Amino acid sequence: MIRIVRPRLPDTAAAMLADQTSKIEQAVSQIHMAKRLWKDTNVRSTVLTPHVRPALERMAPGIARCMYCGENYGTDIDHYRPKSLWPLHTFDWLNHLLSCSACNSSHKGNRFPLAEDGSPLLIDPTTEDPADHLHLTLATGDYIGLTSRGEATIKTLGLNRGVLVQGRARAVRDTVRLMREWRIAIERQDILLEEIVLNDLRQQPFTAVADALFRQASGIAVMTIFSADLDTLAFLRDPEVLETASRALVGR
Ligand SMILES: [Zn+2]
Repeated sequence: MIRIVRPRLPDTAAAMLADQTSKIEQAVSQIHMAKRLWKDTNVRSTVLTPHVRPALERMAPGIARCMYCGENYGTDIDHYRPKSLWPLHTFDWLNHLLSCSACNSSHKGNRFPLAEDGSPLLIDPTTEDPADHLHLTLATGDYIGLTSRGEATIKTLGLNRGVLVQGRARAVRDTVRLMREWRIAIERQDILLEEIVLNDLRQQPFTAVADALFRQASGIAVMTIFSADLDTLAFLRDPEVLETASRALVGR
């Protein structure tokens, strides 16, 4: 999971969402109305499909990847706060995330753990930096919770499920290869190859792996990963390279 920047929704789309929220506000059963409107084909074809979904795809990591696991294609518009518990947030743009069906349906479902003071435990990558709560172990591909919120997020979304851990371990190797290719492109002054590498960095699944590699660049774990290629390790640790790579990850 990486930090995601959420743009403002265009006024026309925001007004359409507000219309749906006012219908829910006025309903006798808000939960029933929220669920009915969410499934309504007219609402889908006029608001969700043409406006909300493309905006989420543009802000998602990789090529429209799930904002939680970063691996799968984002098939669902997920409600950070489940609509069955917070019906008035059903059409709230700030409550929408792009998710895969495995994270959304098989793991999260209607679960939304709260702390004792009532604040959410689940990390919202559009309002906070997941790295403050989650540490990615590059040697294994496992997440470790740094805080109770990190631990609750791993548990709720199943972030350490086998396929994700294996995929992250492979993504470490892919990212190392890309860094080597980038170093060679710069040495050869091959601008086209440099652009291709940066684009591949941005578009590969598991963007969180590259993000973790850059954040942990000065650490011992990264030294072990690059032990056979000290030239590329030195390249990775160059502050200018790190800044360019981090910007490439979030498409800026
Ligand atoms: Zn997912």
